Amino acid sequence: MGKIQVMPKVMADQIAAGEVVARPASCVKELVENSLDAGATRIEVALAEGGIACVTVVDDGEGMSAEDAALAFHRHATSKVHEPRDLARIRTLGFRGEALAAIASVARVRLITRARGEESGVLVRVEGGDMLPPEPIGAPFGTTMEVRDLFFNTPARLKYLRSAQTEQARSVEVVQRESLAHPEVAFVCRTERQVLFQTPGRGDAREVWAALYGVGEARMLLEVRGATGDYALRGYVGRPTQARSSRQHGYLFINGRPVRNPAVQQAVERAYGERLMVGRYPVYALYLEMDPALVDPNVHPQKWEIRLSEERDVCQLVESAVRAALDNAMLTASPRVRTSAPLGSPVPLNLPEAPERTREMQQSPSPAADPKERTRVLARSPSFGQGTGRTAAPREVWESALAVRESAAASQLEAEPEAQAGHGEDRHEAPQERPADWRLRPIGQALRMYILADDGNDLYIIDQHAAHERVLYEDLVDAWEQGDIQPMPLLTPLELSIAPSAFEEVMARREELLALGIEIDPFGAQTVLVRTIPDSWQGLDYAALLRDALDDLASMGAKATAPDIMHRLATRACKAAIKAHDALTMPEMEALCRRLTRARDPYHCPHGRPVFLRMSERELAKSFRRIV
Ligand code: ADP
Ligand code: MG
Repeated sequence: MGKIQVMPKVMADQIAAGEVVARPASCVKELVENSLDAGATRIEVALAEGGIACVTVVDDGEGMSAEDAALAFHRHATSKVHEPRDLARIRTLGFRGEALAAIASVARVRLITRARGEESGVLVRVEGGDMLPPEPIGAPFGTTMEVRDLFFNTPARLKYLRSAQTEQARSVEVVQRESLAHPEVAFVCRTERQVLFQTPGRGDAREVWAALYGVGEARMLLEVRGATGDYALRGYVGRPTQARSSRQHGYLFINGRPVRNPAVQQAVERAYGERLMVGRYPVYALYLEMDPALVDPNVHPQKWEIRLSEERDVCQLVESAVRAALDNAMLTASPRVRTSAPLGSPVPLNLPEAPERTREMQQSPSPAADPKERTRVLARSPSFGQGTGRTAAPREVWESALAVRESAAASQLEAEPEAQAGHGEDRHEAPQERPADWRLRPIGQALRMYILADDGNDLYIIDQHAAHERVLYEDLVDAWEQGDIQPMPLLTPLELSIAPSAFEEVMARREELLALGIEIDPFGAQTVLVRTIPDSWQGLDYAALLRDALDDLASMGAKATAPDIMHRLATRACKAAIKAHDALTMPEMEALCRRLTRARDPYHCPHGRPVFLRMSERELAKSFRRIV
């Protein structure tokens, strides 16, 4: 007799299970995707002990007949593909017919399901691959899958599970991804004790983002749209200020499937370009729709990796659409006065309770910023205290850079329809909003933090720190990119001591530093002499700046490229920018305004915060009820 035997079915299933269900989170993913494929509009996921003790998924989908319910647990049993050519046009999330067989071979499973039109439901129990005869049971339409004691019969696997807390976190992440992938489905994610989050299922991705990250975060998102012949892209990207320190909050969905694709991720990051600091990653939820023939999800059993047949085209679309959204936001980010304040409401002289930026103003020590004081002053005005809009008006009229986005974007649309043209297509340049002869004339400094200025059309409140940061940053980046950094010799070379561990790394980067206008020589075992600095650093506290920059160099490691180093240095230079509360002279303000008008992006500081608020003459006139 030969030595080869065909392995028992359960054993084969268990081996296959290793690929499909590695942990509770993969079980959650498979069950939720089955519910989605069944057309559910509501899906509830409950986790006991992080899903190790039990994962329950309840849906209101199409359910199964008694016959199908029994078949569902057979390996390669699926209702989703029937013949080989179906594989080339997969619209469903599942198609391998493996998940339920795999799960049932390594857990205790209870399935309760009732299809539309069926008199009653059916209960199917499978333990470690052994199925008990199906029984009728009273049940609502839809399907409940209960997976208990995962890996109870495969101790080796069980050993690899982490703490309940870690497993729960992974499972929750899966539900988060799926709920973002399907904003039209209402998700509830809970433990035995509490609801972790739930989404409304109204089809709005922003509402889902709000459920996961908070309303404030969701409100800041920028809309992305784009299309080419084969692809349609929509979704949201975060502002540069929303960036996180990991890539985990960038979501890509292709035909409703959450996927990971490094090339697309890079395309998004390229679109942000210098708007992101080193080590920060954008948040986004991007939805790509395409012919299923153009994407192969069958690369990995968990279908998380995919292969795109025209990856370059997709990346180009993503990059240009994201860049257009960001550019557009730059133009509209300077908050404008909203002119829709109800008629008869008082003139908004104060800024109580307005979010973000105006709140900063209130913290200023100036007595004029004290809300009580302002209210007292205003109360003296005879027209005040009449009308009902009293408390609402200021908040309605002034809005923060972030909250105002929608209305600003809308007014932008009205004012400049051409700015929208080509949106999402091959538009790499920010639309030109600034006239070539744009001149900002400073009027004076307010609250020792803001420069008031006008350009003949609009009134500006410029954040002096943000403006200076922008200018310093661009000075270095531009000069570096154009290869004309002017090194400025120091009269007496600056002596800097560096940690011994960092010395080698810094010395290895002498060439790159030289290209940035910084010439250093070793001077003993842990000291360097700095002989030149970039000329744009004149007048800054360059000693502190250099000390930090050299520390950075050591921490950036050998993989850092010359542009990385340049960006880090440019970002460092921001720290040396004039601060809030620094008094400025008129010539200083003039110089800063002059340079700002020439900036590539005068609208945002390098960290993405707005540089100025702006009100047009017309908006002022409207606020003063000179016109309606
Ligand atoms: P696949 O999803 O790849 O088809 P599965 O093993 O996950 O394979 O599921 C097998 C079959 O069971 C599915 O094709 C589907 O017909 C049925 N099924 C599984 N879960 C559900 C559900 N929640 N509602 C309705 N039918 C389901
Ligand atoms: Mg499935």
